[in-house]
Amino acid sequence: MYFTSNTVAFLDGEFVSAEQATCGMYAQSLHYGYAVFEGIRAYNTPSGTRIFKPKEHFERFHYSCQAIGLPLSYSVAELTEISYQLLAKNGLSDAYIRPLAYAAAPNMSLKCPPAGNLLMAVWDWGRYLGDQSLRLTISPYERPNPRAVPIEAKVSGHYANSIIASTEAKNRGYDEALLLDMHGYVAEGPGANFFFERDGELFTPSAGSILRGITRNTIIDLAREAGIRVTETFFRPEELRGATGAFMTGTAAEVVGVASVDDIVFGKPFAETLGAELARRYTALVTGQAVEAIVEARE
Ligand code: PMP
Repeated sequence: MYFTSNTVAFLDGEFVSAEQATCGMYAQSLHYGYAVFEGIRAYNTPSGTRIFKPKEHFERFHYSCQAIGLPLSYSVAELTEISYQLLAKNGLSDAYIRPLAYAAAPNMSLKCPPAGNLLMAVWDWGRYLGDQSLRLTISPYERPNPRAVPIEAKVSGHYANSIIASTEAKNRGYDEALLLDMHGYVAEGPGANFFFERDGELFTPSAGSILRGITRNTIIDLAREAGIRVTETFFRPEELRGATGAFMTGTAAEVVGVASVDDIVFGKPFAETLGAELARRYTALVTGQAVEAIVEARE
């Protein structure tokens, strides 16, 4: 449940009841997907509620707004402060934070608005893709062409592509889609990045047609700290044959195992892969605990 009658949201400078945070039917954002969002998590740590990498997330939020010309009048520090206040007002510690910059004014033109609006919402959200290893399928839909849209911006309209691809994969009995770029290289999932393991090393798609996830960057750092080699490269789905493991990363999904991509079944159970080890290190990092203290039930 995203909100109840007690939930507080932040809307254009004020904390309001989430039920009152509404948007008109003639809003430019609603008609054209012209809006920007972030997905951030806060964790209950030994030193209290801590938002994970707020600077990185709110800087990306600013970048996304700039990339599409949507005005945003809050600094990174203000957005972080509002997030902490919102968590406190809703009595949440382990939570997902959703900022949305949008254009609420009635406007059917294809011109950037002179002013933007801001909604910030928080809710309790489990791992978006669950704890079980996923059966992926290569989507017939490609990621948006980076020459058509600023692909590294988290623009709401791009997520029509995500919804279409994810729904199509589920309709064919898979857990999630894996999308290729316009050249046929593996790009990413509808809302998460992709890694695979071969011969004790990790590989992940290079930047170009992906959102360079903050979780992806964190996992690359954690892997390198652990002495695991990570290569960013372009590869085709057939090159996954013979890989021993794979996983996806994202703020909402965190780190989730991948069992197969179509008929390619990865060699090891997820629990025995580098992905599982990095999942433990990721949980330790975000929750401020020692890696040894992390015991996770995942398959
Ligand atoms: N790719 C896409 C398309 C996404 O929507 C997300 C989720 N924001 C990611 C990757 C992962 O990004 P992050 O780790 O920053 O959440």
